[in-house]
Amino acid sequence: MDDAFRCLGEAARAALSAIARHLRLRTNVFDHLLDDTPLPFNEVSSSELLVAYSNQQHLHSGHVPTSAPQVDRGFLMLVASDHPGIEVCDPNGQWYLADGLSGPGDLLLLTGRALSHVTAGLRQTSRYRITNESRGSLTFRLMPRANAILDCSPISAAGHCVPQMYQSISASQFMDDLCAEEHAISNHSEAPSGSQGSFVSEPSLRSVLSDPLSGAFLEDAMVLLCGHSFGGLMLKKVIEMARCTICNGEVDPATLFPNLALRAVATVVKMEDDRRLFHNAALRKRRKEGNGELLLDTENSPSPRGVQYPFVVGERVLIMGNRRTPDKFIGKEAVITSQCLNGWYLVKAVDSGESIRLQYRSLKKVSELQPQSEMRRLQPLTFLHNKYPSGS
Ligand SMILES: [Zn+2]
Repeated sequence: MDDAFRCLGEAARAALSAIARHLRLRTNVFDHLLDDTPLPFNEVSSSELLVAYSNQQHLHSGHVPTSAPQVDRGFLMLVASDHPGIEVCDPNGQWYLADGLSGPGDLLLLTGRALSHVTAGLRQTSRYRITNESRGSLTFRLMPRANAILDCSPISAAGHCVPQMYQSISASQFMDDLCAEEHAISNHSEAPSGSQGSFVSEPSLRSVLSDPLSGAFLEDAMVLLCGHSFGGLMLKKVIEMARCTICNGEVDPATLFPNLALRAVATVVKMEDDRRLFHNAALRKRRKEGNGELLLDTENSPSPRGVQYPFVVGERVLIMGNRRTPDKFIGKEAVITSQCLNGWYLVKAVDSGESIRLQYRSLKKVSELQPQSEMRRLQPLTFLHNKYPSGS
């Protein structure tokens, strides 16, 4: 497995270099966004190797044969499999079997959201779906380092036009935003497929109206001579570098003007966000007191953004965790101590008193606990997540 991780990692890096060369960029232009190679001892790579194998249980669970369309969040994905089973959507919206002609030594390459972002959309994200769930496969996902800043300056330096939606963003914030988006999509699975498509390809209103580095709304937005606007930490960075991070144009601090229109919109959306937050908290409180009274379910509220803050400070929750959560916290009861950006919470374990920062999806209301068997059914059966430090 170690060898497979290293070997596929090298192949993925080579593919990324080839993509850079094809865009007439330096071949190492994206290297600083990746983990160091070799990785320092004891450091975990942000890239992933997934192993899927056929699973008898799976055949009896009545699973639909074709999965919902998916996109990779990272730079790119390499798939080796023993049977064909991945369809890719072409630019005309037609699905075709992408690995139909591949042999045992072939790899299928799919491009991801982070690559689309750092190339300002010049390399589009592959939309794919699995048509054969019972095949065995190895999937390598080349991911950006968590502390990398995804920006398009090499693309604009090469003379390409960079739309404002591709502004610089930290990789961790980028992944958080995608998580929230995907969650919103899964809550709207009955929406017509056209609107789902727009969810996948367009940034959210909140992400456009907030500082990509801090997540704060752009209530202090300033507009540069080039027309691009910034606020918060990114504005500081732009002034420090005296360069626009989107078009690389020169910035003279004396020529900055407040962007009043953008500030006004950011303020209105922030107020709506706050009101929804307050409304949801009040609704939950009423529901608790209401005892059987029929009330609206907050999960069905019309805005997908509302679900990012399902808990209030002081509420008792159960830590479900994800694969990065230390074992000692999993399954423990905790109390919400504060609410952070993008659906993150600081929680304190009831028994040990230790604190940990977790996203809302890793937490569960104590009152809504499901029986153990229900919970197990919701977990993926076919994928075995593994992360290997490539150095060891
Ligand atoms: Zn600019």
